[in-house]
Amino acid sequence: MSLSPYSQYRQHQLEALLEITRIFASSPDLSTLLRTILGYASDLVRADFGYIALTTPSGALRITTGYRLPTEVFEVLSPYLAQKRPVEDFWTEKELRRQLALVNSAANAAIEQVVALPLVLEDEEVVGGIFLFRMGTIAFTPGDRVLLRDFADQAAVAVRNARQVEQLRTEKARVEAIIENNPNGIMILDPQMRVTIINRALSRLLGVSEEVVGKPCAQVLRLENRTGEHLCLTEGSPPPPTRVLYGEGDIIRPGHKPVTVGVSYSPLFGGDGNLVNIIVTLVDITRYREAEELKSTFISVISHELKTPVSLIKGYAGTLARDDVIHDPEFVRESAQIIVEEADRLTELIDNLLDASRIQAGALSLDIQPLDFAELARKAAERFGAQTDSHQIVLDFPADLPPVMADDKRLRQVLDNLINNAIKYSPKGGRITIGARNEGARVLAFVKDEGVGIPHEDQEAIFERFYRVDSSLRRSTQGAGLGLFLVKAIVQAMGGDVWVKSEPGKGAAFYFTLPVAE
Ligand code: ADP
Repeated sequence: MSLSPYSQYRQHQLEALLEITRIFASSPDLSTLLRTILGYASDLVRADFGYIALTTPSGALRITTGYRLPTEVFEVLSPYLAQKRPVEDFWTEKELRRQLALVNSAANAAIEQVVALPLVLEDEEVVGGIFLFRMGTIAFTPGDRVLLRDFADQAAVAVRNARQVEQLRTEKARVEAIIENNPNGIMILDPQMRVTIINRALSRLLGVSEEVVGKPCAQVLRLENRTGEHLCLTEGSPPPPTRVLYGEGDIIRPGHKPVTVGVSYSPLFGGDGNLVNIIVTLVDITRYREAEELKSTFISVISHELKTPVSLIKGYAGTLARDDVIHDPEFVRESAQIIVEEADRLTELIDNLLDASRIQAGALSLDIQPLDFAELARKAAERFGAQTDSHQIVLDFPADLPPVMADDKRLRQVLDNLINNAIKYSPKGGRITIGARNEGARVLAFVKDEGVGIPHEDQEAIFERFYRVDSSLRRSTQGAGLGLFLVKAIVQAMGGDVWVKSEPGKGAAFYFTLPVAE
């Protein structure tokens, strides 16, 4: 029994829809899908040519796929469709007639029939239209329209899927950009604790590259001095975390300063409740740790430095105040002298602390003027020479040293600190040389001694607040570790720099520069 033409038609249509569904499943791109849909649709309703146009964000239509579409027709249709109008207008009889007239004149063929259907999503949004044209007098039938509806629906689904894919792609790109450019270290682990993604900040922090992807995180994130809870401890999969874990530790890399980090491990569960990923975030908390250490150093140094003069003052003043003893005048004079010296030391310490906090607040005010540095050094040498017998203070200045730009009081403070240290850290005495050289735009000044010197590993740190070299002299000399911090801050504020050269055991040479007065 042969099928009626209508049944053949139906079967053909079903086959076409099946084929389209099959192509859908292989997920090709939108344009391939639309081309296939349009091809089958045109074939089924025997259209001579046609096109699918999609709505643009401004509300117009743009042809995305053509079926045997002559270039001339494309050229007249595009500007017509690009006109902004309510999208339903494109399907009114009047507009379709207009389109037909345009097409007819452009195609130079007897195009007389048109059928068009909007592509409508479930939420009624019109995302485009399918337009088919035929030559001759045989009109498209309502049956054709019904058949076309299925194809229009398929095309609408293709557009929706493509949009969703695009949206997902954008979303993914956005998340990737956030992860990659985040200043904190981020890595994403699979449930077996292997690295799947590591961002730039973390690669840099750990000194690793992309090659760590796929490795167990215990091999990648090596932390010393760990506290808190950590997942990347040992190789192998720990039980999946059920909440966010937090721990801290140090990243130690040869040739780099240790970095203290706070590490959060956040489990990410899928819809089925299974662990999908663990997001590991590392935040550099070195500064907080340093600030904390500084605070405790500050407290211990200051209390120690205050205690000594205060107890001496109290001891001598207490003895002098006793009315049951008659003190001989020499003892009274010596005691008073000690009280004055210790009070001076207290004042100096307080002044240094105030200066240090001013520097930190950026409020160190300077009165910069042209100064004769050699003269200033000569006076300092005289003052200090009177205080010590075991040291020989020598001046080493060229006759033509130009004046420098500096704050008189602060430059004296710098020099006093350096000479004071030279004396303090040369307990066996020796020569102390204060001098300068003319280096064109700047003057290079120096204070050299023949004392204990400074171990190489401490030579940078001695300019930090409260830093004192750990040696036997540390206990026998007084000091809060503020002198060189102030020296450096003052010299830098005057536009110069300061550094040290020292061979431990042979002495130290402190150099600083000052701009030459014009
Ligand atoms: P303070 O002398 O109060 O300890 P400073 O900031 O002046 O503090 O110096 C910091 C440390 O640098 C000192 O404790 C000492 O260990 C070291 N230092 C400074 N000057 C010298 C020097 N001329 N010779 C040897 N060590 C020095």
